[in-house]
Amino acid sequence: MVDKISFKDKVVIITGAGGGLGKQYALRFAARGAKVVVNDLGGSLTGSGNSTKAADIVVNEIKDSGGIAVANYDNIVTNAEGILKTAVDNFGTVHVLINNAGILKDASFKKMTEKQFTDVLDVHLNGTFRLTKACWPYFKNQNYGRIIMTASPAGLYGNFGQANYSAAKLALVGFSETLAKEGNRYNIKVNSIAPLAKSRMTETIMPPDVLEKLLPEKIAPLVMYLTSDECPSTGSIYEVAAGMFAQIRWERSGGLYLRPDESLTPEAILNRFKEVSDFNKPGVQHPTELNDYNKVWSVTSSLPSN
Ligand code: NAD
Repeated sequence: MVDKISFKDKVVIITGAGGGLGKQYALRFAARGAKVVVNDLGGSLTGSGNSTKAADIVVNEIKDSGGIAVANYDNIVTNAEGILKTAVDNFGTVHVLINNAGILKDASFKKMTEKQFTDVLDVHLNGTFRLTKACWPYFKNQNYGRIIMTASPAGLYGNFGQANYSAAKLALVGFSETLAKEGNRYNIKVNSIAPLAKSRMTETIMPPDVLEKLLPEKIAPLVMYLTSDECPSTGSIYEVAAGMFAQIRWERSGGLYLRPDESLTPEAILNRFKEVSDFNKPGVQHPTELNDYNKVWSVTSSLPSN
């Protein structure tokens, strides 16, 4: 039994750590001994403007409590290398990367401009890609790395007015699943979270009494566990909100398997579509590998003819 998960001497980069969820992560990692890079460009919810204030406040709070932290004000989209450089210049390396920075540019799909779409993908997906790519050689060379991708329930399930955001957030899940596989042999563990919490992202769309149950500090325990030495999990997705922590996984239905001598027509599907979507039928699976898919489709060629 581990008494206390420690991040002593671990270097942790947290993007968007000037407020919301990221700030809570920064305070808590530092309280457990981590050397924290508090990145935040200090912009608005939609990504406009910039200020050093948000990151500075968090760094000062950490230092006042005896912790170790350094501020970085780079935009993850345009200077991800600068964030890594801050970690390396001040602390020598990086062990944990929390990809958390994000913006919103909500609009119904009919009204959404291409710029609103690409701006949101740029921050959530491309910015995350660039910083993760910069950190990867350090993780690989030291045979140690922990990465969190911040997905969203909107990415897993879709949400009105968030076509850009949900596209970016589910893309991060796929990104994470592949990096988990590539990182396995180098002790690099990569997981995604789909949080729900009070922050400037949610405070205009949820009532105050609900928001009080969704304090952002309730997300940090899972993020810390998933990035600790103690956690074996990789390539997984977790929902986390208000004290609820639950893994999400893929499920394949019992399926319709047509024999080689059966006609492959739309009508064949029409007549038996219930089987395609039957999650109660025997044969339901929870695939985690591409190979699980190959095993399943290849069954059709060996089905006996009528
Ligand atoms: P937030 O707006 O308080 O925090 C996001 C931070 O990221 C801000 O401080 C912002 O300045 C910073 N940021 C934005 N673009 C940046 C860039 N290009 N470079 C560097 N910093 C940048 O919102 P939050 O709710 O704390 O969100 C944190 C993460 O959690 C986001 O990825 C968000 O999409 C995700 N998320 C939040 C919720 C929720 O319920 N709050 C739900 C699902 C997912």
